[in-house]
This record gives sequence, structure tokens and C-alpha cells, in this order.
Amino acid sequence: MHFKIKKTSRKGQGVFTTKPFKKGDLVHVFAGDRLTSKQIDKRIEAGFETCDDPFQISRTMYIDLDELSRSINHSCDPNCGIKQELKLFAIRDIAIGEEICFDYSTTVPQYKSWWKMKCFCKSLNCRKVISSFNKIPKKHLDYYLKLQILPLWVRKFRIYDRYS
Ligand SMILES: [Zn+2]
Repeated sequence: MHFKIKKTSRKGQGVFTTKPFKKGDLVHVFAGDRLTSKQIDKRIEAGFETCDDPFQISRTMYIDLDELSRSINHSCDPNCGIKQELKLFAIRDIAIGEEICFDYSTTVPQYKSWWKMKCFCKSLNCRKVISSFNKIPKKHLDYYLKLQILPLWVRKFRIYDRYS
């Protein structure tokens, strides 16, 4: 185990490294129950989840994340990014004791632009509100595209706006 879960001041729990990572390293693989959107909706209705919890991996599939995976926070200037659905890679060198984070918006397609979360990442380019991927500033989006950390299924739904 290369991580410690700790309470942060404004973001609830966070995940911190206990070993350094190099740019390009696989940092974590998201784990949890694989569920359809209908099954996730049932868990939300029953109060086991909030709509901020599930991790979407395709138009219809979600992962109900385990504790470590769901404790990883968002940052508008992240040190990690998601590739191949569930794999979190370092996009720069990460020191021991640093909090690992990724940009939540990279997993939120445009048709879910109703989804919003306040951001407390305090980075210089903080967007203050986390929403769908199309709200990421163009320059930052290009950077993510170059790093290939914007899943294809998220990009694919750019032209559809029927659910928003
Ligand atoms: Zn932010």
C-alpha cells in the first residue's frame, strides 16, 4: 500500500503518497462494484450514495468505488489522470506525502452538465466549480488531450446535449 487516507481541511478525506512516483507511473487502479446506471440510481434513492460518489466509465456503466478510490480528490491542476477506464497515472513527478488527485471533469460528459461541485483545490487555475468536461478551459483541455487523459467515451458525447 503506497497511500495513507487522511482528513483534509475542506475536502473531506484525501489520499496521500507514502512513496514517490515518476511521471508516467501507474499510481492506482480504481476498484469497486461495477454497476449499471439503473443500479446506481437505486443506491442513490436508497441513500447509500450521493450523486457525487459513483465513478462513471461509460455511457451506462459506473463503478461504486471502494474507500480508497472514492477518497481521491479533484484538482483543477492535478498530478494524475485516468487512462484505460480505471487506471490512474502520474502526469508529473509526485513526492512522498503529496496528495494525489485528478480532474473529476475528465469523467463527466457534456450531457451531465447539470452536475456541479464546489472546488476547494486552491490551485492557481482553480475553476471554483467542477462540472462537465466541456467547462474545462481550452488550454487545459488541450493539455489533457495531449496526455490522453480524457476518455474517448466522454469526448464522444460532446455533440449531444439532450439530457442537459
Ligand atoms: Zn479547483
